[in-house]
Amino acid sequence: MSDVIYFDNNATTRIAPQVYEAMAPYLTELYGNPSSIHSFGSRVGRALDRARTQVAGLLGAEDEVEVLFTSCGSEGDNTAIRGILEGAPDRRHFITTAVEHPAVLGLGQHLEKRGYRVTWLGVDENGMLDLEELRDSLSDDTALVSIMYANNETGVVFPVREAGEIVKARGIPFHVDAVQVPGKIELDVKDSPIDLLTVSAHKFHGPKGVGALYVRRGITLRPFIVGGHQERNRRAGTENVAGIVGMGEAAELTGKDIAAERAQLSGMRDQLESALVATCPGARINGGKSERLPNTLNIAFEYLEGESILVLLDEFGICASTGSACTAGSVEPSHVLRAMKVPPQWLQGAVRFSLSRYNTEAEIDFAAEKIPGIIRRLQGLSALGRVGTKEGLPGQA
Ligand code: PLP
Repeated sequence: MSDVIYFDNNATTRIAPQVYEAMAPYLTELYGNPSSIHSFGSRVGRALDRARTQVAGLLGAEDEVEVLFTSCGSEGDNTAIRGILEGAPDRRHFITTAVEHPAVLGLGQHLEKRGYRVTWLGVDENGMLDLEELRDSLSDDTALVSIMYANNETGVVFPVREAGEIVKARGIPFHVDAVQVPGKIELDVKDSPIDLLTVSAHKFHGPKGVGALYVRRGITLRPFIVGGHQERNRRAGTENVAGIVGMGEAAELTGKDIAAERAQLSGMRDQLESALVATCPGARINGGKSERLPNTLNIAFEYLEGESILVLLDEFGICASTGSACTAGSVEPSHVLRAMKVPPQWLQGAVRFSLSRYNTEAEIDFAAEKIPGIIRRLQGLSALGRVGTKEGLPGQA
């Protein structure tokens, strides 16, 4: 077992060895510009074509014309949303959810400041979307609906097909942020109501700094980065060749045996989850009653602070994360958990463990053995540390 136990794969993943090998020549001898006329450059251009086909394969895109390379998931989201809104200047209404990743959340807030009406769809206590609320929110002024496929903090999976059918019945474009999905749920945009879909290579064992946006044929997208003619005039700038080649390779590897990978991930996740629920009184699984990504466990420990747990996990080399944003010394509870109306005693104590194909059962066993001690230690330190006993605080479950 290595001295780092990496359970933070929703933040980023390890590059697969095959991906690194595929990239290496494009960082050394194959340095030509893919737009050049000479054969040295065209050879690099052919590598981009191959990567586009590989990514189209992962997404189930009809052909490689529908895949646009970007620099990351955030750029994909911005390209999709801004590109559609700019093409529909008469429509000033944008619909998204209250639990999006900051890439969409921040853009929605920005649009509000620019005079757009933004509908923030809520979720229930299980983190699930209300499709009736979506249906009721659509109007003749709606330019775009953007909904995440799976939540990066809780792993809760939204019914994007049903949502998309509701949206498309009104003829409105539909974008899906699927950054957390490759390798965990089979993607097939071809027979879906999805018009645009964002992915990012570093979430599925590819390199950082490269992503892709699926744009259904026939959808007109205004470019977000204007200038050169790359990416069929939809994204200016010399391509990140090595990154794109790496993304193609990662896409091919990820698409290979998704059922086996899902089974491996959910087996390990469920093992960790049941061990912690059994040994840590007062633990609560956020989103546990909904369909979830197979690799994600968001577990909250009553009256504790997630950050303190992370510090003690780090002493054992265990990398995890919380959903909260820590700014200027104040810890803001996660917007996702607040939207789910998680009771206050669990709001600060959430920890996200997110697994990958490179984790092992030995690592799960090690974590399951160490974590209860960490929780007991913190409960002992906490002035409120009577968790799991009936003489707890008023309102305690
Ligand atoms: N959307 C979701 C759901 C994410 O989880 C992330 C990253 O965590 C992003 C978008 C942004 O992706 P990137 O880090 O590639 O910009």
